[in-house]
Amino acid sequence: HIPLSTVGTKTTCPYCGVGCGVRASMQTDGKIVIAGDELHPANKGRLCVKGSALGETVDLDGRLLHPKLRDEHGNMHRVSWDTALDKVAGGLRSIIDQHGPDSVALYVSGQLLTEDYYIANKLMKGYIGSANIDTNSRLCMSSAVAGHKRAFGEDLVPICYEDLELADMVVLVGSNTAWCHPILFQRIAKAKENRPEMKLVVIDPRRTATCELSDMHLPVKPGTDVWLFNGLMSYLAHRGARDSAFVAAHTTGLGEALAIADADCADPHEVARICKVDVNDLLAFYESFANTEKVITAFSMGVNQSSAGTDKVNSIINCHLISGRIGKPGMGPFSITGQPNAMGGREVGGLANMLAAHMDLDNALHRDTVQTFWDSPRMADKPGLKAVDLFNAIEAGHIKAVWIMATNPMVSMPDANVVQRALSKCELVVASDIMEKTDTNAFAHILLPALGWGEKDGTVTNSERRISRQRTFLSAPGEARPDWQVICDVAKRMGYRGFDFAGPHAIFDEHARLSSYRNGPPQIAGHSHRLFNLDGLTGMSKQQFDELQPIQWPVTRSNSTDAAVTGTARLFGNHRYSHPDGKARFVATPPRGPAHLPDEEFPLTLNTGRVRDQWHTMTRTGKSARLADHVPESFVDMHPQDALRYGVREGGLARISSRWGAMVARVQHSGGIARGSVFVPIHWNSQTASDARVGALVNPVVDPISGEPEFKHTPVNIEEF
Ligand code: SF4
Repeated sequence: HIPLSTVGTKTTCPYCGVGCGVRASMQTDGKIVIAGDELHPANKGRLCVKGSALGETVDLDGRLLHPKLRDEHGNMHRVSWDTALDKVAGGLRSIIDQHGPDSVALYVSGQLLTEDYYIANKLMKGYIGSANIDTNSRLCMSSAVAGHKRAFGEDLVPICYEDLELADMVVLVGSNTAWCHPILFQRIAKAKENRPEMKLVVIDPRRTATCELSDMHLPVKPGTDVWLFNGLMSYLAHRGARDSAFVAAHTTGLGEALAIADADCADPHEVARICKVDVNDLLAFYESFANTEKVITAFSMGVNQSSAGTDKVNSIINCHLISGRIGKPGMGPFSITGQPNAMGGREVGGLANMLAAHMDLDNALHRDTVQTFWDSPRMADKPGLKAVDLFNAIEAGHIKAVWIMATNPMVSMPDANVVQRALSKCELVVASDIMEKTDTNAFAHILLPALGWGEKDGTVTNSERRISRQRTFLSAPGEARPDWQVICDVAKRMGYRGFDFAGPHAIFDEHARLSSYRNGPPQIAGHSHRLFNLDGLTGMSKQQFDELQPIQWPVTRSNSTDAAVTGTARLFGNHRYSHPDGKARFVATPPRGPAHLPDEEFPLTLNTGRVRDQWHTMTRTGKSARLADHVPESFVDMHPQDALRYGVREGGLARISSRWGAMVARVQHSGGIARGSVFVPIHWNSQTASDARVGALVNPVVDPISGEPEFKHTPVNIEEF
């Protein structure tokens, strides 16, 4: 690596959705110095241990530095970019010509920058003419997207981080915030230190590090969240906490939603029995929620990653709507996004059922708007396949070519052995990656070297809708190129116009212009209420883009000649929602349990998640010795009595198996797991140890609306290895 600047570059951490600002500089001895950006509103100078260790993860060890092509004997050979791009473009063209647009797919990632994501989506939906582009964000927050769209008419996160500090009660649901979003947790902890009366409630089957600060922990039985929140809604409705004026003026659908909640969940004793929590604790939580005006309910993967994930999200939002606790400082539902740019991907239509700029694929007017704006030859006219279905379609032979970017589905997908079978029989597998050897790349026919953090340039959007710059401070290693440029080069070789961009600033400008295209005139039905808008960020020069300060969308521009640009800290202050009637929707959420329940053969419930110091499949964090020190190898956390019952012992190896696959991990007792459950982290893979992919065990059932898999609830067996 050659440093491009020794004075320090402001950029954004590439890990979790908190999106912390980072200052990166290079010492004369080549050592990279990382510090928190004091002026970045997300973190105000703080960094967690992963962010602080970024400098230890950018070496070139293991990097993919040149395009490579697999020969007929299965060996990879270095080729020129021209050869590789011709092969990708020619391969896609030939398969599309023979089998149609839906025979090819892109599988992308919340690690992509918004500009990369935008171009990938444009190529697939507007030029190839298929919506078979999905993303690993499907595994992360698609239930939140679907819940937002049902309730608000658009994928909108109402609050900002500052609201967490203004709240009098923060409820964390299915979120080990202390480990997975550490800077947000530090902000909550600091606020609680300043105002000890501020309450923190954690709703999670596990007793995690997050509980150490909580006033109350409800160790809810896995999969019963909807019962708990329907019960809360019923309690709020009938115990004087209903905001009738707000409900009447700004919502619809209360009757049906409340009838469903009352039907099964009006009796807190019954809810406590189903959720397996102490009824007095449950009532104390309900009472606290009812009596506290400024409440935030923040939720993460424990809610989203479920076959009832979308209903879980809406059952939470229902409670905020019935009490009118939304659109004002210190209150509202809050989806904590997992990845650094899951939100940016949503903005550009990175999911198979969405279009760019928060427009809908199933809306003919929206399709026409985007196609007209792009001046593209065609437009996908139906939603594409979501992640699990996409790999199933590859295995079934319906999809014959897949281009995978910045993600490792062989490790991260549920029922990951399907991915292995799918990729082994797929006619053309292209992988754009920064690393050469990954479980997924072992099946690629063409490898394209991508730029990593510090090398690439563009924008990301964090969990509070804040757009921040990722900036370049290291030279491109070897022949690695930005993803957007590679996609544009392939598109041009396929004969498509519309892919000439001078750089990320030009792509961002097109993205920003599309966000406000036809957005204004109320006479165009279906366009008048969309809140996503980057109008204030259109027309930026390269220099203005380089200097862009973190800003929350919607971003508007004043009409005055000085064209002042304004971001938006929180939404719904005017209680105008994106449904055509401007009202928010209550959504009826009949409770239903997980798709697969434990039985005699598989008597325990597997829950998966992150550990504090690793990120995803460890391709970067795995390089740092001090990060590895925290948890050096994969483990299965379980209750000591279950260990005794199933004949495994702490420190020994155990084989964990499900109907879908098996793995080996070391047994530990953290003290935070209830009997009947086990927890295994998601990070380890075949590059770190054989049989270490927990994805191979996870059941592939998905939420019927969002398509998000049920990572938190797979029946498993455990035995001594
Ligand atoms: Fe990076 Fe998230 Fe840590 Fe912030 S909290 S430094 S974004 S990993």
